[in-house]
Amino acid sequence: MKIGIPTETRSGETRVAATPETVKKLCASGAQVLIQAGAGQASQYLDDAYVAAGAQVVPNAADLYAQADVMLKVQAPASDERAHLRPGQVLVGMLNPFDAEGLSALAATGVTAFALEAAPRITRAQSLDVLSSQANIAGYKAVLLAANAYGRFMPMLMTAAGTVKAARVVVLGAGVAGLQAIATAKRLGAVVEASDVRPAAKEQIESLGAKFIDVPFETDEEREIAQGTGGYARPMPAAWMARQAGLVAERCKQADIVITTALIPGRPAPVLVSEDTVKAMKPGSVIVDLAVERGGNCPLSRPDEVVVAHGVTLIGYTNLPAMVGTDASALYARNVLDFLKLILDKEGALAIQREDEIVAACMVADANRVTRSA
Ligand code: NAD
Repeated sequence: MKIGIPTETRSGETRVAATPETVKKLCASGAQVLIQAGAGQASQYLDDAYVAAGAQVVPNAADLYAQADVMLKVQAPASDERAHLRPGQVLVGMLNPFDAEGLSALAATGVTAFALEAAPRITRAQSLDVLSSQANIAGYKAVLLAANAYGRFMPMLMTAAGTVKAARVVVLGAGVAGLQAIATAKRLGAVVEASDVRPAAKEQIESLGAKFIDVPFETDEEREIAQGTGGYARPMPAAWMARQAGLVAERCKQADIVITTALIPGRPAPVLVSEDTVKAMKPGSVIVDLAVERGGNCPLSRPDEVVVAHGVTLIGYTNLPAMVGTDASALYARNVLDFLKLILDKEGALAIQREDEIVAACMVADANRVTRSA
């Protein structure tokens, strides 16, 4: 059984799907690991380290795809990468399970494909939860990017030259990324407040020392929808969204930095910071919109751009984990290794446990068919 690790081709991607640490474990289990020359270079994992871990270096992508039985990717393959895939080959990566067109194209290659983002949020799946491992990094990096773009200090400082006030940070959406953004901003000394639709988020926000922006429920229906499904948010009724928008506008006017992370699986991101709210913000404030790839929590943010609108800097980078490539790869590679335990046997041979809840949820294509409704 040969496992292949290609160089990621998407612009700006620094991550790699296996590290020398995970390669060593795969080799110890009896699998043969092939790595494309330079695949880990952008995240500081060099070919020599992979060779020392037991991998064989293959000079180019075409040779690698031709030899490997299982391909480990970070990003969903682009069309030129899909051209290398062949029927019966297994593909594991973050394959965008809500992208119907992309899944059809993948299925047409005949691969058996597993999208790790589709794993259920159950305790047993925590160690392979790529959404969590990467969102955690994005939340951390978002605060550092904001601090860098902000022309003032984050902590309160009392100096001989006078006192500097602490920055006020608002975090919208307190899932994995939002909670890490709160924790990081607190560590830097900011005063933090945060909002989430799920009632369970209140306690988590407060346990990190931030203030919960409370949008009260006025009907049982609102309260019921806010519970979400499977831990995820659902779209809230318009009346609740309007009340939230009012409160968010108030809080953003006072804020120096706003980090938005609100997402609803399979849907466009909810708009939480309107253009009027941006207009009312202080000049020099910063917004980092982590939802920009899904339409954005602010209509003024642009994917992979930094724009200044009404005196506010809006940061819209879509791939923050790639800016922390070494650790992002290390955590992602461990997620992948844990998933492989469900599709390889103890001798490292392919043995897909199709009836397993996690395997079934992640499988997006098999035998030329899309096996998941996007
Ligand atoms: P996500 O990335 O899908 O969304 C980010 C956050 O945006 C969520 O907290 C969501 O509630 C929030 N949101 C959506 N609409 C909003 C709105 N209008 N206003 C404010 N906030 C809004 O979420 P995620 O980070 O993937 O986490 C989703 C849930 O899964 C969380 O409850 C998290 O704790 C849970 N989780 C469970 C496990 C596990 O048990 N294995 C692992 C990871 C995460």
